[in-house]
Amino acid sequence: MTTILDGKAVAADLRQNVAAKVQRFQAKAGRLPGLTVVLVGNDPASEVYVRNKGVQTREAGMLSDEIKLPESTSQRDLLNVVARLNADPAVDGILVQMPLPKQIDTQAIIEAIDPMKDVDGLHPVNAGKLAQGMEALTPCTPLGCMILLEKAGVEVAGANALVIGRSILVGRPVAGLLLAGNATVTIAHSRSRDLPALCKHADIVIAAVGRPEMVRGEWIKRGAAVIDVGINRVPKDDGKTKLIGDVHYASAVEVAGVITPVPGGVGPMTIACLLQNTLTAACYREKIDPKTL
Ligand code: NAD
Repeated sequence: MTTILDGKAVAADLRQNVAAKVQRFQAKAGRLPGLTVVLVGNDPASEVYVRNKGVQTREAGMLSDEIKLPESTSQRDLLNVVARLNADPAVDGILVQMPLPKQIDTQAIIEAIDPMKDVDGLHPVNAGKLAQGMEALTPCTPLGCMILLEKAGVEVAGANALVIGRSILVGRPVAGLLLAGNATVTIAHSRSRDLPALCKHADIVIAAVGRPEMVRGEWIKRGAAVIDVGINRVPKDDGKTKLIGDVHYASAVEVAGVITPVPGGVGPMTIACLLQNTLTAACYREKIDPKTL
């Protein structure tokens, strides 16, 4: 029997949990946690994400602010906005929505954000802390993957985990979290040889590649946990588009012990984990141990 993980339900539970903790945070700190999202340009997908983030932040009882800047914004102007948010005591979390327009050096923006307010967990200080096994703000999608594994009762300690993809957003941090959970971690990437053989040894497969249905059911070890991070928009016969993952779901569901669908698996977890990170950042700033909430 394969367990199909319902990311929507797990994310809804997490949001409720965060909302309850926000009330306890307010009782202790005398204020609400606040998240500011900065959107540069008019990318339609980014606009939808930012709107959803705002709605869910407010639903969790936190303060939400959005700063919209034109596509032509210069690097200096964006750095000034980030500096202002770094200095604003009401702002606990800063999220600059990616991708950024071509004239802006994304890495420079990531490094300009105060690591204490870096709710995306992309700042080298936070990435370095994760690499050293220290407590840190950690990227949201990898956190979501780990929560899904935990909800499914997957034993991470001692497992052979294969992460496919090595981006700073997903692959590397999820590998760090799996290692922190005492898995034996392999990171595969575009130059890896014989991916099917690597998959065959894996008790946990995290696919974060961006290639539709690349990971085939025949590659998967029977009973493995398969977490599909991929979100690929592909054309349908009727001219519309649909979302599919990096895993060939129809064949993988036949062999996996646990699997996430696309859509409705990892996707909904990302914003829920962003809310959790905002609360965690607020706790750090108020010197409250998040575990005591
Ligand atoms: P990316 O393009 O930055 O990284 C892709 C990685 O895949 C690279 O490290 C590359 O080495 C590796 N790769 C490419 N071809 C490969 C191959 N043939 N074999 C093995 N590895 C290969 O992408 P990303 O930002 O890490 O995102 C990956 C996927 O996850 C995308 O589909 C993206 O849309 C999705 N995503 C989903 C969420 C979510 O909320 N669910 C969040 C972020 C990203």
